[in-house]
Amino acid sequence: MIRKIRLFTPGPTPLLPAAQFAMAAADMHHRTPEFRALFLKVLAQLKEFVGTKNDVVVLSSSGTGAMEAAVTNLTSPGDRVLVLTAGKFGERWTSLAKNFNCAVDVVEAPYGETFSIEAVKAGLRLETRAVFMQATETSTGVRHCVPAVAKLLKETGSEAMLVVDAITGLGTTHLDMDRWGVDVMIGGSQKAVMMSPGLSYLAVSERAWDRMEVTYNPRYYFDLRKERKNAVKGESAYTPAVSLIAALGAALDYIAAQAGTAENPAGSVAEGRKKLVENAETISAMTRAACVALGFKLFAPDAPSAAATAVLAPEGVDSGVICKELKSRFGATITNGQGEMQGKLFRIAHLGFFDYMDTMALIAALEQVVATKLPSLPDFQWGKGLVAAQELFASRALDAAATRTCFCGRADACCSLVHPEYGVMDVKPVH
Ligand SMILES: *Cc1c(COP(=O)(O)O)cnc(C)c1O
Repeated sequence: MIRKIRLFTPGPTPLLPAAQFAMAAADMHHRTPEFRALFLKVLAQLKEFVGTKNDVVVLSSSGTGAMEAAVTNLTSPGDRVLVLTAGKFGERWTSLAKNFNCAVDVVEAPYGETFSIEAVKAGLRLETRAVFMQATETSTGVRHCVPAVAKLLKETGSEAMLVVDAITGLGTTHLDMDRWGVDVMIGGSQKAVMMSPGLSYLAVSERAWDRMEVTYNPRYYFDLRKERKNAVKGESAYTPAVSLIAALGAALDYIAAQAGTAENPAGSVAEGRKKLVENAETISAMTRAACVALGFKLFAPDAPSAAATAVLAPEGVDSGVICKELKSRFGATITNGQGEMQGKLFRIAHLGFFDYMDTMALIAALEQVVATKLPSLPDFQWGKGLVAAQELFASRALDAAATRTCFCGRADACCSLVHPEYGVMDVKPVH
């Protein structure tokens, strides 16, 4: 057997060939009309991709750089901030905010779960200046309910900035920053936009731009106001990652074209993004159905994200064995658990350049691993996982709206708070 190497990891994700070609061809200086035209086009596309009228700035850094920029630009030493955390990336917010001398309150949920909105309410204080959270917690495969938190902040008249790490949320999850009142939404290049690591981007509300005028935590390279000023002219403050910006343009063209028609083959980024979200929702649901049919337990059954599925290894089996088998026999790279979750679970990504074909192939390979390495899973039969995935796909194709899950996929109060009032969900709840 030959092995074709494929990434099924939640960042870096598989690369779009057109983005790689654009990257290789981007031989230009950044203080030229050519680059300015490219950068202005990409910034306009990015706004559409995020789904916002707010200004977007692009940084030459991985996602964590943008997280740090959000903390340093929006806080002053001693500011009280609230971090909502249920995994490794939530914990990153806590340590970032502490490093910049914020007084950090934490609302925590166990790994594999999301926090209740009541707990968030209890954690919020009059003097809370910022709330930091993830849209999707990649380390546990959980989706948090951003609109419920946004609504709570509005209702309580809180002055807190709502900062959302949507690094794996964008392109996998319906997010409506402007309507919900999110102040900062963060994305990264090696996730749903199908390109190499190295770029991060932030959409920033007017309220947040105003806040930056009064905050005084140190910032220099990641001074967002400086980047905003330069972006208006199609430039960046320092030498931008020219080739990555060219790749991002090509990737956003591809995403737009997913919603193309005979009359308008170029499509639109806003509509293409919906297709991308729908794609992730569908293939993640196929993966969950297949894993359950094969006898696995999902790590986050109550609030699963469409970015990545976390699956528990059977009792007594190190999840690393499953990762290793998939890699050595089938060339498929999935990820182990992070930190304390290492050895306990494995994660399969759905964000970006993955489709039905990739998903079915991975499920088939997983069946091979179950058959040879996991005798403790009961009642194994060839095709069980594949049939479950096929049925799920077919039922969605028949009645897409009826089978989609709502924003956070949960059956408790936070959802019912969201739908009637905002009425903005383009997905219909199943509960
Ligand atoms: C990937 C990721 C990040 C950013 O990590 P970098 O390695 O700095 O790009 C942040 N948050 C989440 C939820 C992520 O999945």
